[in-house]
Amino acid sequence: MVFKIVFLIIALVLVYLFFFKLSRGETPKAKSKKLEGEIMVECAACKTFVVDKDAIIKDGQFFCSKECAKL
Ligand SMILES: [Zn+2]
Repeated sequence: MVFKIVFLIIALVLVYLFFFKLSRGETPKAKSKKLEGEIMVECAACKTFVVDKDAIIKDGQFFCSKECAKL
């Protein structure tokens, strides 16, 4: 009977961990992140985050500078 309870607790912990991991995994690996109202975008070349209004958009990708965008 005690084993049954222990097993139940282990099962519940595993279920809890599974859902916790799952819910964490669901959060999208955002290519952009919000910072104080400004949208930060990742440079496709050097992976630096820049404010989207300063970013250079080329072929649907963001770049931090003309050098990275190869303009
Ligand atoms: Zn760059």
